[in-house]
Amino acid sequence: MKALFINPPIYDFSTYDLWMKPLGFLYLVDLFKKNGWETYYFDFMDRNHPFYDDIKRKEVYGCGKFYSSREIKPSIYKDVPRIYRRFGLPLETFISFKESIPDVDFIFITSGMTYWYKGVEEVINFCRENFPNTPIVLGGTYVNFCLSHAKTLGVDFLFSGKNLSNFCKEFSNHFNVSLKYYNQLSPDWSVYKKLSYLCLKTSSGCPFNCYYCGTKKVEPTYLPWDIDTIVDETLESLNTFNINDIAFYDDALLFNFKRHLEVILKKLNGNKRNLRFHTPNGLHSKFINRETSALLKEYGFKTLRLSLESVFSFRAEESSYKTTFTQFENALNLLLNAGFNKENIGVYILLGLPEQKPEEVIESIKILKGYSCKIKLAEYSPIPGTFFYEMSEKIYPQLPLSNPLFQNNSIVPLWQFDGKWDILNYIKQQSFPVK
Ligand code: SF4
Repeated sequence: MKALFINPPIYDFSTYDLWMKPLGFLYLVDLFKKNGWETYYFDFMDRNHPFYDDIKRKEVYGCGKFYSSREIKPSIYKDVPRIYRRFGLPLETFISFKESIPDVDFIFITSGMTYWYKGVEEVINFCRENFPNTPIVLGGTYVNFCLSHAKTLGVDFLFSGKNLSNFCKEFSNHFNVSLKYYNQLSPDWSVYKKLSYLCLKTSSGCPFNCYYCGTKKVEPTYLPWDIDTIVDETLESLNTFNINDIAFYDDALLFNFKRHLEVILKKLNGNKRNLRFHTPNGLHSKFINRETSALLKEYGFKTLRLSLESVFSFRAEESSYKTTFTQFENALNLLLNAGFNKENIGVYILLGLPEQKPEEVIESIKILKGYSCKIKLAEYSPIPGTFFYEMSEKIYPQLPLSNPLFQNNSIVPLWQFDGKWDILNYIKQQSFPVK
């Protein structure tokens, strides 16, 4: 049997390759390979595709800009004063790729953010038109959170969730094939000819349960993964690709640090390999002590993000009491004392939460400006199935929250007042470091 796996392009106002790879999808490729299938892979978001050879690229720790083209804004965005774009490889590169491979029995498409579904739709429509008899299977984040909307795209099989054992059963039943589940799956990085960085996940789920977060819905329990397997797979990939940068995808990377991450870091022996580690997902300040900060520095962490979310204690419950402001101050000081500098440390502040006023965010920024860190604004996205989403439906019945495009954090969907875009520009400017 032969299968084609596709990671679609992204339609949005902005996007940047910040260690962005469809990690879960790579586990799926491994599953099919282990079942003896011939697999083919096309990633519209691959910045190492030969298409980029003639485009000047500036990379920082393997990250950089995607090729993009201007697109007509969907009507729901008509009042958004930003340019809407399609990010990723042009369709022609996919057409050439498809012509270079044999006919396949199945097409698998993954999906990212709910509001990126236009890219998924583009790929589905193209495949439907050009390979009308090939079944299309769709999964990923958009399907997990917007299943009924995904049903409107007309694929043959939708898979929601991350449980690949369930996937094997459902897929086998639906298509009358035999797909066996394997316990020991790993991300199949060999689908890429070249990589600028590696993404690494060492656990699933999160011990916290924040009102705005969708993690609990797809990964209900926190589970640290087998250390030796993680280390062996990572070392193998490091040897295959000439990579220095590794980004962690864990939601609670420092949880149980001594028994988990510290052991992994020691075994990877990052300082000897000149590895640079990055944590695009926020770290929890309460797990940072003197020893942790020193070890993060020693092992080569370069990009740290702290999840503060708000400087105000009245928001603590929404964030599962994961960090108090005092814990944040303490963690920041320890990291600075360990040798990290302002450039290394970004602090996430949430913006556009239900009933949140701009003044609160402006006040947070004012307070944070007194600290040696970069302020990272994280615009709130109403994720279906979360506590805040349900609350938002009640508070803002007039808003089209169930439309995935309206869940786009770039439009700060819950803020609907005159002068919104001027205020947002002002807030963004305030968050920039003083030159
Ligand atoms: S700590 Fe982060 S990953 Fe965990 S529930 Fe809260 S927002 Fe989600």
